[in-house]
Amino acid sequence: MTAPDGPAPVLRVSDLVKEYGEGDARVRALRGVSMDVERGDYVAIMGASGSGKSTLMNILGCLDVPTSGTYLIDGADVGLLDEHQLAILRNRRVGFVFQSFNLIPRMSALANVELPLVYGGVGLAERRARALAALEQVGLADRVHHEPNQLSGGQQQRVAVARALVTAPALLLADEPTGNLDTASTGDVLQIMDRLSDSGRTIVLITHENDVAAHAKRVIRLVDGEIVEDRRQAPVDGPPPRMAAL
Ligand code: ADP
Ligand code: MG
Repeated sequence: MTAPDGPAPVLRVSDLVKEYGEGDARVRALRGVSMDVERGDYVAIMGASGSGKSTLMNILGCLDVPTSGTYLIDGADVGLLDEHQLAILRNRRVGFVFQSFNLIPRMSALANVELPLVYGGVGLAERRARALAALEQVGLADRVHHEPNQLSGGQQQRVAVARALVTAPALLLADEPTGNLDTASTGDVLQIMDRLSDSGRTIVLITHENDVAAHAKRVIRLVDGEIVEDRRQAPVDGPPPRMAAL
């Protein structure tokens, strides 16, 4: 008798290799990375500059393709999807937060957060309501009509988190999300991540800062495109929440 299969992990990565360039200029950015991420996990991927963190993240987020290896998101083998299916997966299943925020200038916070829903074909009334709710979740209900240049870096990154969450993705990917932020704003963003994790979201975050990685439940360390460490830890207790519950 075999036990019934449990739910598929959010991520199942097998032997990912990524090479850039040809011949003498060839760089092996990933040298066979394998890992599973279960639903609700909070993973920090650490490593020195050039160790392959962004390469891995861009592949996981379906923004780039591996040279070889396979990966499944929510049970779907990404390498087998056509362009249309891939676009849907990218839009609905994965939320991305970048170091440099990547908000659209001269568009309000609300319009920025609505954008993935526009691409997803969600009607105006529903997408407005969902974008407002997402901005409320990150404590920016009073800034929805501000444009990025009218917001602090920390506020811009919270808008970016709201944009990543508005589609209710299976997986939240964040590449050095606090890398451009001061200490106070870093604390705000990490507190939001902590509460998202507490509410069951699956998060994979890249950082090279120990203080940031301390918030995760699991730390994976990359050296030269290979996983050299994968350990669980008790995440730090943040300060008591001061924003609306997520
Ligand atoms: P990290 O995010 O850990 O700093 P990256 O994934 O950005 O590392 O880079 C890993 C390696 O791949 C580095 O040696 C980097 O120079 C190289 N690399 C990254 N992107 C490209 C690219 N588009 N073309 C060529 N080499 C690249
Ligand atoms: Mg990087």
